[in-house]
Amino acid sequence: MLGFMLRVPQSASVSGWLTGAAAFLTADLLTGSGLLQTSILSSANLISIWAAYLILSRASDNVLGLRHPISMLYLLLASAIGGAAAGLVGMLANPYLFGGSMLRGFTFWWITEVVNYVAILPIFLTAPVQRAESTGHKWQFRKQDILPTLAVLLSCLAMLLIGGPGAVAFPVLALLWCALVYPVFPTAILTLLCSLLALLTLSDSGFHHNVTGIDDAALFSIRLGAAVVAIAPVMLSIVTNHRNELMAQLRYVSMHDALTGAGNRAAFCQEAERILQQKQHPHAVLMIDLDHFKQVNDKYGHAGGDRVLCEVARRIQSCLRPDDQLGRIGGEEFAVVLYACHPDDAKDIAERIRFAIAAQPVTLSDNKLITVTTSIGVSFVENGASKSLESLLAEADGALYQSKESGRNCVRWWSLANVSTQG
Ligand code: GH3
Ligand code: MG
Ligand code: MG
Repeated sequence: MLGFMLRVPQSASVSGWLTGAAAFLTADLLTGSGLLQTSILSSANLISIWAAYLILSRASDNVLGLRHPISMLYLLLASAIGGAAAGLVGMLANPYLFGGSMLRGFTFWWITEVVNYVAILPIFLTAPVQRAESTGHKWQFRKQDILPTLAVLLSCLAMLLIGGPGAVAFPVLALLWCALVYPVFPTAILTLLCSLLALLTLSDSGFHHNVTGIDDAALFSIRLGAAVVAIAPVMLSIVTNHRNELMAQLRYVSMHDALTGAGNRAAFCQEAERILQQKQHPHAVLMIDLDHFKQVNDKYGHAGGDRVLCEVARRIQSCLRPDDQLGRIGGEEFAVVLYACHPDDAKDIAERIRFAIAAQPVTLSDNKLITVTTSIGVSFVENGASKSLESLLAEADGALYQSKESGRNCVRWWSLANVSTQG
């Protein structure tokens, strides 16, 4: 109920709480409890949920979604306080309902709720929903990722075969492995399954069938142990995934131009070198330079110029194929490597880019329209031939110079005879 109310905030309404209360009462009555006992147990549950909800509902989306290293501390705090709220009811109810002591009432109701919260809540809080595409880290399953799950299954088997009080710790290593490999959600599910199995195995080994004080302590210790086992892998998974997310953002920032989102010079050169090594195909390089861009800045301000640069990058990208690479290699200069592209096709693509930019004006933020043009130089490398990126860029730059000389807003290419040819 707590997990649902946190994930679907509109369910935490008066009718939501009343529905929850009715569900608790019905469930207890169906299991054969008396009306008074049912009312006390249900109020303990509701008060506990309310206390934990008060804390967790104040957390930011990132913390609540277990995407921040501090998330687990928050969850622990809410679990401890939610558990203590149930414990207070247990302290008053235990002597009356079960003839036990107040201390036992508090400790057992407290630890039971804490184990429930730390084992079950992470699953609700991280259950995947459809999100908008982000530039961040996205987990993809690879064949070898099955190994941590197999290790968990093996350790569970060992837990069943060997049993005993140490069994609760058997799956810890395998779960930590899961935490390093999987997102939080699958890690939390595997952890919950292991915790449940550990509790079942331990209760089978007869720890709490006796009623002596020592067995009480053992039972408390087992539940606390299960809670710690449930916390560690989820905590590690949160930190690992947070680090992976930061690394992905860092990688994105280090490879992209912040203004236009096109590849930056370093990323462009790296990808271009990789393409040029594939000598079984012909490739082409384009140098694209905006015409009289200084005047755009002078007339419409730097912000207007920036807007034009973004739109130009978008239009160039829209003319490219998935394997081509675009980079912003200077202020108002872009370069493109066309992968496995015959010279005639490269000239067509360059012409398409020139047209896509010149044919439609760019709308500025104040709705002013501005038409810009580009000059483009093209160079090629035949299949089987070898040319460095440096020389291809220099040739494309030479051809670009020719197109500027020819009056701008046109495409020129570096001829195989090393003389520029006019189209
Ligand atoms: P040409 O047709 O010969 O290329 O003329 P041009 O005016 O485009 O060339 P020039 O090299 O004289 O000017 C380039 C301008 O690009 C000058 C510079 O202020 C502008 N510029 C470079 N980077 C940015 C940027 O990030 N944002 C904006 N708004 N302008 C930029
Ligand atoms: Mg220019
Ligand atoms: Mg320039």
